[in-house]
Amino acid sequence: MSKTYDYIVVGAGVAGSAGVDGIRALDAAGRVLLLGNEADRPYNRPPLTKGLWLGKTPDTKLYTHPEAYWEEQNVDHVFGVDVTGIDPAAQTVTDAAGNVYGFGKLLLATGGAPKHPTLPGADLPGIFYYRYLTDYRTLRALAVPGTRAVVVGGGFIGSEIAAALNTVGVAVTMLYPEPYLVSRVFPEGLGRALQEGYRARGIRIVAEDAPTAFTRPDGSYVVTTKHGETLTADLLIVGIGIAPNTALAEAAGLATANGITVDAYLQTAHPAIFAAGDVANFPYQALGTHTRVEHWDNALSQGKAAGRNMAGAAEPFTYMPYFYSDLFEFGYEAVGEVDARLQTVTDWTQEYGTGVLYYLRDDTVRGVMLCNVWGKLDEARALIRGGEKVTPDSLRGRIK
Ligand SMILES: Cc1cc2nc3c(=O)[nH]c(=O)nc-3n(C[C@H](O)[C@H](O)[C@H](O)COP(=O)(O)OP(=O)(O)OC[C@H]3O[C@@H](n4cnc5c(N)ncnc54)[C@H](O)[C@@H]3O)c2cc1C
Repeated sequence: MSKTYDYIVVGAGVAGSAGVDGIRALDAAGRVLLLGNEADRPYNRPPLTKGLWLGKTPDTKLYTHPEAYWEEQNVDHVFGVDVTGIDPAAQTVTDAAGNVYGFGKLLLATGGAPKHPTLPGADLPGIFYYRYLTDYRTLRALAVPGTRAVVVGGGFIGSEIAAALNTVGVAVTMLYPEPYLVSRVFPEGLGRALQEGYRARGIRIVAEDAPTAFTRPDGSYVVTTKHGETLTADLLIVGIGIAPNTALAEAAGLATANGITVDAYLQTAHPAIFAAGDVANFPYQALGTHTRVEHWDNALSQGKAAGRNMAGAAEPFTYMPYFYSDLFEFGYEAVGEVDARLQTVTDWTQEYGTGVLYYLRDDTVRGVMLCNVWGKLDEARALIRGGEKVTPDSLRGRIK
């Protein structure tokens, strides 16, 4: 065995980084090892589709901590190495270099990986399955004014990267099967209004259609579609969702079901092994569901909570994480079950610009979206936790 640690964290994203913070908050002396397969030290992904494109994200905001942090915290770390196996009985992890490390407690913060569509050409070289800082660096260098991009997917990643590319002068075509933008979350009126805003900025929208093949006949990408379109581009970006990285957990015999199954303490059935962030399927206490959340604040807060529990805190995770997005000047924060299939009640101050959206099931508020309304997340959380019966009328002006 190479070395034994009190704590090992696998995955050096936001959840892994926050996991180390959580451990260190309670245990200043324990031996900690952080292992990640990206060459970069832990960073925040949201700027990859937003601030970085506008030159608005300094390194202090991009990275979770300054470079010197890990040494200062006395945290051993290897960035750029794959963890290839876990042995829960022996309490060891193995990396691709053949190192075997012993652990007292282990955090799996392996996140998710972009899905690839099952169609011819999906694995052609140079297609961006956009998620990593290396993707940003490569795409940024290629995205010079006048280049043409096809963005496949109309969800969070597709809509944000399309806006970013448009901002730097790239001619963007978006292709997605839904009738309007971010349709899993936005009610139809809002989704269509934002979609018109994209068109007004010169983004071509090909909605209610889907790619059937990608080819690269002469250096350009050609995307053919179900409805007979042929879209040609210099850049092809695909954002159609992620799948949780559960392979290590599965091979180790840990329970997985749409993520690694954990309890209220973010602990797997193995008492020494925890999971947090995009990969964790956890009991969302305030909603009474077992679910997985793919958002930054969830990764941050769960990572920290898991780290604290690994260091002995024994605190259930009851926090309600929020998420946010920016689409040109339309920015929002949301909390709870923000699902367009629920009944939605809209309370606009300025239609499709500023206001509050409520997502209801059985006349109770399950989720709230605050559109260009800031500092009201705690009011939204209280409304969801309260579980009171509401009507559209009783919600008017409730949060402003
Ligand atoms: C471009 C982009 C923009 C986003 N914008 C927003 C936003 O505006 N708002 C918001 O709320 N959320 C946003 N998100 C989502 C948010 O970034 C994620 O929820 C968050 O990154 C999840 O963090 P994580 O640490 O759980 O997982 P990840 O970020 O996936 O990190 C997991 C890390 O573990 C590594 N890893 C996996 N397997 C292994 C292994 N076997 N060995 C070693 N390392 C391994 C991965 O490579 C990765 O580095 C965005 C995501 C992307 C991609």
